[in-house]
Amino acid sequence: MLDRLKDIVRKTSINVCIVNCGGCNGCDIELVACLSPRYDLEQYGIYLQNNPRDADVLLLTGAVTEQWEDKLHRIYTKVPEPKVVLAVGNCPQSGDVFAQEGGRVSAPASNFIPVDAEVCGCPPRPDEIISAVLAVVPKAMVAKGHENKKIKDNDS
Ligand code: SF4
Repeated sequence: MLDRLKDIVRKTSINVCIVNCGGCNGCDIELVACLSPRYDLEQYGIYLQNNPRDADVLLLTGAVTEQWEDKLHRIYTKVPEPKVVLAVGNCPQSGDVFAQEGGRVSAPASNFIPVDAEVCGCPPRPDEIISAVLAVVPKAMVAKGHENKKIKDNDS
């Protein structure tokens, strides 16, 4: 019964797993703000999911430190197909401040896993993050054959 309920909820929602691969936590704080009543990310049927095996979307923050190079790919392989990767903040794209002064980071994250979309900013604002998720993720998931009725309805 509970498994069936879980299946129904998953088919009508987008589950996002956040991975901080070495940043200052500034972007993560903005992501927490997305869940607050002011921005209310869940009103769009988008939920945080700690287990990558149950996620639809991998949302990256951070500049990919040396320790994350292998781990990032391992986590990516655990997310079931079709999966979408969204890189949030300047760090996963360029390393931002961590790449300066000889910092030992390995950004861009796209060197290690395929990235479907990026949101610039240091950090980006919550409304920019939510707009990116809503603009990119449903289309990307449909393009990848996701059987999600809600996503198809929203897209048409
Ligand atoms: S992009 Fe800026 S706010 Fe986000 S993790 Fe990097 S340094 Fe911090």
